Amino acid sequence: MIQHNGHANGHSAPEIPDLTIIGAGPTGLYAAFYAGLRAMSVRIVDSLSEIGGQLTALYPKKYIYDVAGYPKVLAEELVKSLYEQCAQYNPEILTDTKIENLAHEGDLVKLTTSDGRVLYSKTVIIAAGVGAFTPRKLENPELQAWEGKGLYYFVKDPAMFYDKKLLVVGGGDSAMDWAMALGNKSTMTLIHRRDKFVAHEDSVNKVKAMGVPIKTFWELKTIIGENGVIRKAVIFNNKTKEEETLEVDAVLCNLGFLTNLGSIKDWVEIENGGVKVNHAMETSMKGVYAAGDIAWHAAKLKLIATGFGEAATAVCSAYVQVTPGASFFPGHSSTTMEKKEKEGKHQPA
Ligand SMILES: Cc1cc2nc3c(=O)[nH]c(=O)nc-3n(C[C@H](O)[C@H](O)[C@H](O)COP(=O)(O)OP(=O)(O)OC[C@H]3O[C@@H](n4cnc5c(N)ncnc54)[C@H](O)[C@@H]3O)c2cc1C
Repeated sequence: MIQHNGHANGHSAPEIPDLTIIGAGPTGLYAAFYAGLRAMSVRIVDSLSEIGGQLTALYPKKYIYDVAGYPKVLAEELVKSLYEQCAQYNPEILTDTKIENLAHEGDLVKLTTSDGRVLYSKTVIIAAGVGAFTPRKLENPELQAWEGKGLYYFVKDPAMFYDKKLLVVGGGDSAMDWAMALGNKSTMTLIHRRDKFVAHEDSVNKVKAMGVPIKTFWELKTIIGENGVIRKAVIFNNKTKEEETLEVDAVLCNLGFLTNLGSIKDWVEIENGGVKVNHAMETSMKGVYAAGDIAWHAAKLKLIATGFGEAATAVCSAYVQVTPGASFFPGHSSTTMEKKEKEGKHQPA
């Protein structure tokens, strides 16, 4: 799990980067690498707390068979490699940052986040996939009131659950990942409303082997606490209606994600549910490009492989925008990087 906030290698870059990439899915991460290759300063923002887009949020343990150069690769391993590749150029990565608005201000693009922060950039690539992911939340308002006070949908710091009595809710990959990561470090019970898991079988087996009690057909009914601290969780069996009260310090819900194009449709022209782009991945807004699942053109294929190609094109378009007169063609990395390495100008991480 790659959680990040700040510069990949710790050093800081200019406050107004050449390029801001909205979305840290495979397309956004590859765009960050490619922009680094073209010596652009880069900021990546993502609404989620982890990078990797759909690969991390929806199928980290599934193998992907159609990424060039890999006979097969685990989704989470591909994210790790993409991160390492772009980290060579030290992009600034801001997770838990959702972009709510884009507008021109002079020659710059002004990005406003959902919590009111304002970021400026010379150019922008929208690599927002299927839109911002938000965790599916419990609907009961009584339970919602505990959010952030012992009830969590994201793990920002795993250590906060160490030595705690923890109830994990969910049967997908995220629930199993956290059960594997925290099962030996906390006193854990895992409940799932069905007996079928939507997680990788190997992960479920590992959690079982760790001895984590797994209760299927059980759901969370209510949380009991005092002075703003969770003490107990009442769970119920959705078949027998039997109830049980567990002593818990925290509840971690992994109920999947909702996606929403949200305000993106107000920024740029939309066609067929995606951001309309031309051959150079330009959108209807000057200095703003799109790539990956979010981009729409007549020959669209929503695949990781095509997202990489679109990312390279979008970066070269952005590069020419910030470097007037520069060549659109980046040259061959096998030649340009060899030259830079000989001159000591490129030290891969
Ligand atoms: C189960 C499953 C299996 C798949 N298997 C394959 C496969 O085998 N091969 C293949 O090629 N493809 C596969 N795909 C499709 C592939 O995952 C997508 O094509 C790919 O993830 C698109 O990458 P992306 O970077 O464009 O978008 P995404 O991966 O969707 O990432 C976009 C990111 O942008 C962020 N974002 C969105 N809006 C905002 C905003 N306003 N502010 C900040 N952040 C924002 C989101 O949080 C997200 O992290 C699969 C998809 C699924 C669901």
